[in-house]
Amino acid sequence: EGSILKVETETKDLVQMDKDHLWHAMHRYNEKASPMIAAEGKGSWFTDTKGDQYLDGVSGLWCLNLGHGRQEIAQAAYEQMMNLSYFPLTLSHKPAIELSSKISELLKGSYTTFFSNSGSEANETAFKIARQYHSQNGNPGKYKFISRYRAYHGNTFAALSATAQANRRVKYDPAVPGFLHVPPPYSYRSPFGENVENSDLLAAEYIDQVINFEGSETVAGVILEPFISGGGVLIPSKEYLTRVAEICKKHDVLLIVDEVVSGFGRTGKMFGFMHSEGVQPDIVTMAKGLTSGYLPLGATAVNSKIYENFKENGKLNHFRHVSTYGGHPASCAVALKNIEIIENEEIVKRVSELSESTLSELYELTALNKVGEVRGIGFLYGIELVEDKKSKTPVSDEFMGSVIGACKEKGLIIGRNGDTVPGYGNVLIIAPPLSSTVEDLHFVIETVKAVLHELC
Ligand code: PLP
Repeated sequence: EGSILKVETETKDLVQMDKDHLWHAMHRYNEKASPMIAAEGKGSWFTDTKGDQYLDGVSGLWCLNLGHGRQEIAQAAYEQMMNLSYFPLTLSHKPAIELSSKISELLKGSYTTFFSNSGSEANETAFKIARQYHSQNGNPGKYKFISRYRAYHGNTFAALSATAQANRRVKYDPAVPGFLHVPPPYSYRSPFGENVENSDLLAAEYIDQVINFEGSETVAGVILEPFISGGGVLIPSKEYLTRVAEICKKHDVLLIVDEVVSGFGRTGKMFGFMHSEGVQPDIVTMAKGLTSGYLPLGATAVNSKIYENFKENGKLNHFRHVSTYGGHPASCAVALKNIEIIENEEIVKRVSELSESTLSELYELTALNKVGEVRGIGFLYGIELVEDKKSKTPVSDEFMGSVIGACKEKGLIIGRNGDTVPGYGNVLIIAPPLSSTVEDLHFVIETVKAVLHELC
């Protein structure tokens, strides 16, 4: 097999092999376009097979939080693989025990964690736990979940059902029954009217109304990111989440906080929900920054109120869910090392401090006619582009492509939101590794500024 592959490599180049055999994520087939093939990475930078260097301004898929090439992390994986290469969590192993305990400490509560392999699975697990919890807690009718339009919660069927981005679901629907959507806190395009004060709080109250209309005895949980990320970087006031948490409590509805992107420092706190006073989620889901992308791992942490409910034996009251690779020893060892580095190098504090100046530089861009709004927190930034400030008409796909392409020409990779609502994929997204140097950040800011000044 090795020799066949070798011959193939010699006779076709990588680009042709890629085109023939590799199905890319989110890919629109284009015979003429060549894929960018990464060869190696160091810190926030990577080099492609042509030798061109790029700063990864979106941390891969928002996960490469400590950047490429951390030897300690690779070493932790190596040592774990040599010591105990695999072990299932139907039984137990030390890295998973230590990591579950560390997660509980970081969440500042008493949490028990179920491990999986990805953010989608972490959310999938949360939905099953929530339904089963209510079912055996005397409320079998509580099965619905509420999420927000523009949210992304994953690619599996229930996670996709919580996802409320129209274009992601076309041709895959019908979704799983029992998922409802409400407007997000989004003051720039508030569904409650132009220039309405407290539009974020109105969005929170809307959740209360939906629960009332549906009947709280039918609603299992509300799932949300503290800050909608892939849906366009929406940054509500701190009070929004506090109010949603109160509403959930009032109705005995579980608050499920999706920290897949915002967890582990991305927003300048260890977890995004920690920006809002009095919020202690019932369930927290994590992935991406949990291992800084070095190995796959998902985690669903539940509070003791929920976990207690699964202790009663008999009548199928235990959680009947298993993942072969979830909580893989090497992934847990990598996560522990990743968290150790985040703590030792005070990454969260650093993000919080550096974000202020980065944001204020980016805010200057709002002087440009086509820059509708600049939003951000920590190392998570969104620049919403419009035809003009008055109409707020989103710029075209082609225009977004030209901005992203111009940044790439200058050596910077940035992203954009998915087509949340058709025609509204108009938010540039910047989320550099949390370990980016001051020079790296300067490069990101200057490149984006130069391109937008030229094109906007
Ligand atoms: N939740 C959020 C907020 C995400 O952004 C993502 C992925 O981008 C997911 C869940 C799904 O994670 P994964 O791609 O690891 O399944």
